[in-house]
Amino acid sequence: MREFNVALLGKWCWRMLVDKDGLWYRVLKARYGEEGGRLMDGGGDGSVWWKMICSVCSGAGSGVGSWFEDNVRRVVGGGTSTYFWLDNWVGEAPLRVQFPRRFELSENKGATVKEMAERGWDVGGGAWVWRRRLLAWEEESVLECSSLLCDIVLQVSTLDRWRWVLDHFSGYSVKGTYKYLTLPTTPVETGLYDAAWVKHVPLKVSVFVWCLLRNRLPTKDNLLRRRALHQDDIICVGGCGCQETSHHLFIRCDIFGGLWHRIYQWLDISFIPLELVRDNLHQFGNLAGLPQFTHSFLQVIWHACVWLIWKERNNNIFNHKTKDVVLLLDSVKLTSFLWLKANKLTSAFSYTDWWRDPLLCMGVRD
Ligand SMILES: [Zn+2]
Repeated sequence: MREFNVALLGKWCWRMLVDKDGLWYRVLKARYGEEGGRLMDGGGDGSVWWKMICSVCSGAGSGVGSWFEDNVRRVVGGGTSTYFWLDNWVGEAPLRVQFPRRFELSENKGATVKEMAERGWDVGGGAWVWRRRLLAWEEESVLECSSLLCDIVLQVSTLDRWRWVLDHFSGYSVKGTYKYLTLPTTPVETGLYDAAWVKHVPLKVSVFVWCLLRNRLPTKDNLLRRRALHQDDIICVGGCGCQETSHHLFIRCDIFGGLWHRIYQWLDISFIPLELVRDNLHQFGNLAGLPQFTHSFLQVIWHACVWLIWKERNNNIFNHKTKDVVLLLDSVKLTSFLWLKANKLTSAFSYTDWWRDPLLCMGVRD
């Protein structure tokens, strides 16, 4: 019964998005105010009914994350009524979630997609206005954000609209949502979710892995499906001649995938890698024969691998720069060390130790 009530309240959350001309919306707007295209919660002054709706909008009602926000998505036409940082319109989450530090420093938090596009969101474009000068590593994440936007072409004559992810055609329905909320969460999916959110890696990397596991990265096959790329352009940038899919790029590719063999050599283990990305993560994170306490180290290494493969792929496409696999391996060693160090998991050993003998550092050998 509880889920049914939540599904009913969700209907109001949906209407608040799609029916802004309605009388009731204008009444609520006058009472509680509007910010970033959304009604405000009114602090302690809201009615009980209003507080319940706000709690559903911000995620109450299911065990996992914010089920309502996760299932609404902005389909951008001309970009005039979509908020660049705030709405979920590109990638797997709103840009303020994917790039929280950039959002914090941004001078145009309330800008629309159209405004940002007009100012220019290329690297060095006029859209990037910050409260202070950026540091080198911050510049790098702007590059990342910019590369996410490079394929986007606004359709000036089309209106932006909301899409209910669970039902693209009919939009929100109480019945469909009730079904979704009462669906038993399968252990595999929950495990998958946990696997992405490793606490020792930066949040943006977890978001990235989450997208990867759900096959939502802008890989070339996905862009082709969204008609954002031409059939002739979907060859892997590694030069192997195959089509770029996430399974190809991260595992099978002779060029990028070659990194894994170097990793096994470094870890002094041998096994045949599974070809699906999610199986591979599961296999790698729970390496047979290695004790439980090594698993969080292994997960960090796996996250560093896929993260650096993706960065290398983007650097190759957007900046025409390539690194050979030995240098890539060095980046994995350094990046994983820095993440572990930032989480105080490495106080007992130095980078040189990690570089030479990771198993010793994990405490597997004496
Ligand atoms: Zn390839």
